[in-house]
Amino acid sequence: MTLPPPSPMGAPPASGGDRLDFEIHPNPRPVAPAERAARLVNPGFGRVFTDHMVTIRYAEGKGWYDARVEAYGPISLDPAAAVLHYAQEIFEGLKAYHLADGRVVMFRPEANARRFAASAERMAMPRLPEQVFLDSLRELIKIDREWIPTTEEGSLYLRPFMFASEAFLGVRPAHEYLYLVTASSVGAYFAGGVKPATMWISQEYTRAAPGGTGAAKCGGNYAASLAAQAEAIEHGCDQVVFLDAVRREYIDELGGMNIFFVYDDGSLVTPPLTGTILPGITRDSIITLARDEGRRVEERPVSLAEWRADARSGRMREAFACGTAAVITPIGVVREPGSEFTVGDGGTGPVTESLRRTLVDIQRGRAEDRHGWVHRVL
Ligand SMILES: *Cc1c(COP(=O)(O)O)cnc(C)c1O
Repeated sequence: MTLPPPSPMGAPPASGGDRLDFEIHPNPRPVAPAERAARLVNPGFGRVFTDHMVTIRYAEGKGWYDARVEAYGPISLDPAAAVLHYAQEIFEGLKAYHLADGRVVMFRPEANARRFAASAERMAMPRLPEQVFLDSLRELIKIDREWIPTTEEGSLYLRPFMFASEAFLGVRPAHEYLYLVTASSVGAYFAGGVKPATMWISQEYTRAAPGGTGAAKCGGNYAASLAAQAEAIEHGCDQVVFLDAVRREYIDELGGMNIFFVYDDGSLVTPPLTGTILPGITRDSIITLARDEGRRVEERPVSLAEWRADARSGRMREAFACGTAAVITPIGVVREPGSEFTVGDGGTGPVTESLRRTLVDIQRGRAEDRHGWVHRVL
């Protein structure tokens, strides 16, 4: 049994004193207001980018330097840049919201800062001070605030990422890195509302093995999940669910979302963080909110056989996937080679719906923020 890694959510607070001054270079050709308004009407997900981005450089011996806010646009890379060969790359994803009273807030950004640092450590990359990470988000939100949708479902999706930029083909941790933050105006993740998704159980592929990079938010994990996701689509499913890499028996998570099961006594179960699962901030928030409601929440392994049997017997009433982008996605049908089963009645269960609403209401400033998760930016 491997010991669980330290949870990024439970890590000590950011050490103070690490600050960088950002040089602001406003985009000389920002998108005209009428054109921006047109792009914000139906932005979808990850297609509409704002006028600016943040860049910060790192060099061994020099540390982090040259923090800038500048025009969004292509970056130039040496073809020998290490990331293009050995994939030293990590990222984060979080949202900024425009509240009804005009405030602009982020949801639990310090948790993303801590997880980014934990991912960097796993990938042998330098640690960006958490305060610099938070400041970089604020700077970008401030300059691009007009790009935050004011619609009920809209938000500004922030994408901090870092990669090895050193031009060198030797295999070792690079000596130079580039950190960027881009922002994308997004609408509802699912056009036409939240609908139950169909899951494909991958028998052939796994996502992460013990000792591997499953708990780090790195691009490589996503690259490794795409063949399985393509297989899911071929079988008429929306998403793939990965089994553990050792026994191919226990449920790990989806390619980019964690998973929860809801039982007939109102309790919840989610697989434990043993190093192969990404410690989702949505996952952590749901555990807390469910316990606030007096529900029992267990972090324990759930086998595919148990999932199938409990769904068929009716002991398991609901299942859902969760992550920042889509918040909560109900799971209706689960398909395996040669058979399938349905969770509950295949629709959106009441516990799933109520947890989704509670979380979204906190994020949107409509419900009391008892845990200090909502951070004001503007
Ligand atoms: C980002 C991610 C999640 C969800 O994390 P949140 O912090 O809730 O957005 C879950 N699984 C994987 C593999 C991820 O990369």
